[in-house]
Amino acid sequence: MNEKELLNEIRTLSKRLDKPVRFMEVCGTHTVSIFRHGIRQLLPKNVELVSGPGCPVCVTDDTYMDKAIAYAKFGDTIIATFGDMLKVPGSTSSLEQAKAEGADVRIVYSPLDCLDIAKDNPDKKVIFLAVGFETTSPTAAALVVAAKEAKISNLYLLSAEKLVPPALETLIADESVKVDGFLLPGHVAVVTGLHPFRFLQEKHKIPAVVSGFEAEEILRAITFLLNMKVNNDAKLINAYKTVVKDEGNPVARSITEKVYEKADATWRGMGIIPKSGLRMREEFSTFDIEKVLPLTVNPLPKTTACRCGDVLKGVITPFKCPLFEKACAPENPIGPCMVSVEGVCAAYYKYGRASFMFE
Ligand code: SF4
Repeated sequence: MNEKELLNEIRTLSKRLDKPVRFMEVCGTHTVSIFRHGIRQLLPKNVELVSGPGCPVCVTDDTYMDKAIAYAKFGDTIIATFGDMLKVPGSTSSLEQAKAEGADVRIVYSPLDCLDIAKDNPDKKVIFLAVGFETTSPTAAALVVAAKEAKISNLYLLSAEKLVPPALETLIADESVKVDGFLLPGHVAVVTGLHPFRFLQEKHKIPAVVSGFEAEEILRAITFLLNMKVNNDAKLINAYKTVVKDEGNPVARSITEKVYEKADATWRGMGIIPKSGLRMREEFSTFDIEKVLPLTVNPLPKTTACRCGDVLKGVITPFKCPLFEKACAPENPIGPCMVSVEGVCAAYYKYGRASFMFE
């Protein structure tokens, strides 16, 4: 079916629903694509898409940011990071502010860029901010393995790698979050395969579809979700078979598992989620800056009305945040959801305001 036919199918199926449904697109790449293609506006009124916690920068908590900023100010450090971390507010400052005050903060385009930075600056501690999901942890792990093989001793990670399935389990258990099905991130499933998501069907009987990121792929995934709702069925469907294999990518997983082990992790808005993060194994502890140079930070409580936590859980849309578009905009972000290109608030700001005007 082409896009037009899929939309017709969605409309037909929606008429068979006995009540409105809410599907969560878990990842920020889906959120952006859904906006870019105007999919939200095309859906029938009784089919709602809500955005989830799938932007790694957004779910990174203040403690991590405050640590990154504190390390940046040590004087003998170089912080290497992807660009979208620069503006993320910690409890009192940001890396961008630290850089303006003289800290050496550099943007990298691949974690492996850090190898050259470390070699070129032997008198500095180079700290890579490893923030991401299953998609990025293999490259962070590859950096550590490469540094070990090259006997580079001034390269470290400040790691906050996270795992998506435990966050979904937490969302399902949260009564303030009501979701009838999940649009699962294709790029995460490329690595993990289907197995880590099977609990959605087996334990919770919630429909879930692994989807690609083009309009046609997203629309097809929505038809699968609707079909399951209409037929009172709940399966895990791989609708991205050209890219996602059931077994995922064992090579990428094995390098992650070599360097990392599962650990509890703190998610913005969701608190500590058991076994939802990755910490470096003991044999790689010399690359863990928190082991080599431990520090304690005490993030100040938030004094703004930022509601990133509720936005990330799909409890509210950014439009419901009193700061959206007023005090908070991409040039002056109050919360991380307005910073990253994959942040829900940034996506609503860039693409969603026009659609809101139509409602
Ligand atoms: S609009 Fe800004 S202040 Fe409001 S939830 Fe989003 S990031 Fe936070």
